[in-house]
Amino acid sequence: MTKRNTISWQDWSFLITLAILGLSLINVSLALIGSLCYIGPFVYYLKYHNKTWCQKVCPRASFLNKTLGKLSLHLKRPTWLGSSNIKSFFVIYLSLNLFFAIMSTIMVGLGRVEALLYIRFFMFYKAPFILPQLIQFELPLAMLHFSYRILSMMSSTLLIGLILGFLYTPRMWCTICPVNTLSKPKQEKVKTRIVL
Ligand code: SF4
Repeated sequence: MTKRNTISWQDWSFLITLAILGLSLINVSLALIGSLCYIGPFVYYLKYHNKTWCQKVCPRASFLNKTLGKLSLHLKRPTWLGSSNIKSFFVIYLSLNLFFAIMSTIMVGLGRVEALLYIRFFMFYKAPFILPQLIQFELPLAMLHFSYRILSMMSSTLLIGLILGFLYTPRMWCTICPVNTLSKPKQEKVKTRIVL
């Protein structure tokens, strides 16, 4: 029997990450497409109850593999990096980040606070550059603010992923990625059910 060559989505899904980064330079509101990368894992998880997203789709994992595949130093992973404390920290950090992004957007929409129209790394550090905007759309300030907040979240975690990937293995970010942390217990339950 001849073996069929199957092309994995993850062989090319890095293009989605590149596209989102590129689109944000055209207009930051286009970075909102990147929200699908936050919603996607949970949709897949609810549908398949396993890690199909992580194993076959994730554009971020694909991007880290492609960019760092040959550059990674493959140092030994420190034990703290696999600890439950650091995993919980990132779940809390990203949940808070999303919460503040949504709440501040509502406040901007109500005219109570000024819109932050720039990238802020790790919620506090203003990026030392201005994002080029090749096309200006007439959009509500709140939407622009939210777009910058989502892009800030994506850029911050991508930066961590690149640093960890360079030092250890390309997909080291997956160890602490909230999707991995949040999807594990249920998957283990499913496995247990099958074994029983
Ligand atoms: S753990 Fe996170 S970064 Fe890694 S493959 Fe899954 S969703 Fe993507």
